[in-house]
This record gives sequence, structure tokens and C-alpha cells, in this order.
Amino acid sequence: MSEVRKEILIAKADIDKRVQELADVISRDYEGKELILIGILKGAFVFMADLIRYLRIPCQVDFVRLASYGAGTMSTGNITISKDIETSIQGRDVLVVEDILDTGLTLSSLVERLKKKDPRSLKICVFLDKKDRRKVPFEAEYVGFDIPDRFVVGYGLDFNEMYRFLPDVCVIGES
Ligand code: 5GP
Repeated sequence: MSEVRKEILIAKADIDKRVQELADVISRDYEGKELILIGILKGAFVFMADLIRYLRIPCQVDFVRLASYGAGTMSTGNITISKDIETSIQGRDVLVVEDILDTGLTLSSLVERLKKKDPRSLKICVFLDKKDRRKVPFEAEYVGFDIPDRFVVGYGLDFNEMYRFLPDVCVIGES
């Protein structure tokens, strides 16, 4: 039986340093304001948990879960919401926190939907960005790392619900 090989793409220490840097920039940009962070489940939960503890501004958190199938879901444009936000974002400063920006389809669709709720501002913070993979033009205001077109796991990211617990971002393959 072949073993799964894990190659570290971004090590824990580099992640930690970069998340602190991002939090510093965000704290400066939103100085004197109160932020609502909206995390996209499940992949963003580790990144958001680390990010929030380095922020130096008051903030609230909420989560949205997107799904492409399943019962009890609410279809909205291109995306399907299986758990919507529970906080009113009208007139508020909102930062959407996502694990990976890939084709851009998920975030562009979610942003259109959130804009209808009339926030004062709406920006995007992604941990990883695969710029080469875009199918629609979309840029995040805050990006942790640009990465090549490889499938990655760890630091919240999964493959079939496995590997989310890994502290490093890894590329997996069979050996
Ligand atoms: P897109 O930008 O294509 O609409 O969707 C981004 C989503 O695709 C991410 O939130 C993530 O769930 C998934 N995704 C894209 N690339 C990867 C990857 O390399 N690893 C993992 N685990 N998920 C990915």
C-alpha cells in the first residue's frame, strides 16, 4: 500500500510571523474602528483564531458555511449557504477571512451577497492566494502568502476532512 508523503510548503514559524504582520497592518488600517470578522467554515478557522489574537482593535466574529449540495441549504446565486451569518453587518466594517483564494468564484459570489446587507466597508483577508488559478478577476486586500498551483493541506485546510490539524502548510502526494 502506498504511503502519503507530506512536504512542508510553509513552516509553522513562517506562518506565525506572517499572521502577526497581517494583524499589524489590519490593526493600523482599522485604528479607531470596530471590526466584524466573518470566517468561512471550515478551512479558515485556524487562521482566524490566530489572526484575531494578534489584532489590536476591538472585533466581533461570525461565520458562514458554504456548501455545494445537501438538504436544508439556501441557494444564493452561485454559492449555497448552509450556515449564514447571525450578526447584522449593516453600517459595519466587515473583514471576510478565508483560507484560500483559488478560482475566485466562491469569494466573488459571497462578496456580492454580503454587499446587499449594506456594510460600511467590506474587505477580504485570505491566508493563501493561488493567483494563477483565477477564473474571475478577484483580489483580496490582505494576503498571507502567494502559493503555486499545488493542492495544500494543514493549518485548517483539509483533504477529505483530514490533515486540518497539521501546524505547517503541506503538499501531499503518494510515495
Ligand atoms: P475558489 O476560489 O476556487 O472559489 O474556492 C476556494 C476554495 O477551494 C477554498 O476555500 C478551499 O476550500 C478550496 N481549495 C482551493 N485550493 C485548495 C487547496 O489547495 N487545498 C484545500 N484543502 N482546499 C483548496
